[in-house]
Amino acid sequence: MLSDSLSEREKPVVSLVDTSHFPDLVPLAAQRLRNLATTELVNDRVGRELGRAANNSLAMVVDYSTRVSSEVITELAKCELVVTVSVGYDNIDLQEAGRRGISVSNVPGYCTEEVADHTIGLLIAVTRNIFTLRESVLDGKWDELAGGPIPRLRGRTLGIIGLGRIGTAVALRAKALGLSVITYDPYIPTGKDTSVGVRSVELEPLLKDSDMISIHCPLTDETLHMIGAKEFEMMKDNVYIINTGRGAVIDNNALADALRSGKVAGAGLDVLEHEPPAPDDPLLKMKKVLITPHAGFMSAESAADRIGMAVDEVVRLLRHQHLRNVVNADMLQLGKE
Ligand code: NAD
Repeated sequence: MLSDSLSEREKPVVSLVDTSHFPDLVPLAAQRLRNLATTELVNDRVGRELGRAANNSLAMVVDYSTRVSSEVITELAKCELVVTVSVGYDNIDLQEAGRRGISVSNVPGYCTEEVADHTIGLLIAVTRNIFTLRESVLDGKWDELAGGPIPRLRGRTLGIIGLGRIGTAVALRAKALGLSVITYDPYIPTGKDTSVGVRSVELEPLLKDSDMISIHCPLTDETLHMIGAKEFEMMKDNVYIINTGRGAVIDNNALADALRSGKVAGAGLDVLEHEPPAPDDPLLKMKKVLITPHAGFMSAESAADRIGMAVDEVVRLLRHQHLRNVVNADMLQLGKE
């Protein structure tokens, strides 16, 4: 075990990358790691240049906007851990990290309630067309019909794809609204659906039976464009789509087509396939679409929690303790075989 009184020369280096979103990370890491490691800031570097800047580091803490590609990882000669200060980790090449014996950790659960609240906020805003009603007030029209046909939520079916932390928190909130909840998640432990009080189904019946569909699975090779033209075709007419998971789980062009054709009555999106979107992204101009700028995780409390959790994981590495939030354990194993 590392002693808490290493000389400056003996101390391993921990790189903090792209810290502009987390100004509090720098003082917190410096304070918590002061006897264990030297912290270095590596901002505004990408690709091989980022890898080279961090090539002496034992651990890296990165933001979700940092692309830790195989090009970066190849340069990381000493690295044993990359922690992303986010729940999603599709910004990191897990396979390449695993192959090189680098653990990748995330900060699960720090914003479960925030994202679940945001999801329900979008669901209500979109189904009740609150943004169009507000426009009518701002335009001086005071038109209660501006929202068009509004479905009553009670008794309708919400399909949740991914019954993890956030999907579960959304299901519990949705039940309080009187929605009947069905879910598709091939990886939940047996019985999780019944303990949450929802019904597990395969993807196809979920698509066919839901009045609203909400995405809460991670972006992986398997879930990339999981919802495309074929899947929209299977859905009920006038379905609502909510996505606070990852944009590319939905083929955004197919979504735009389904909105144009009227198949989809409205969409509430906190995440897009390309963030920030190109100015000519068709979804931006559509009246039936409410987009927020990937802000579901935001709250004063979650901001503090996420950096504390990231630093805790680095401390565990430096103290040779068991890492708690490794997401590429299978790939690390493959690297050893
Ligand atoms: P989690 O790991 O607790 O849950 C993810 C669930 O998805 C798991 O139950 C898993 O079994 C399931 N899943 C995996 N592959 C699937 C597949 N092919 N089909 C259906 N289900 C599948 O993660 P979480 O904390 O609930 O977060 C979910 C996602 O939300 C994250 O991966 C992240 O991309 C996104 N997120 C967004 C924000 C935001 O600000 N909008 C914030 C945090 C997380």
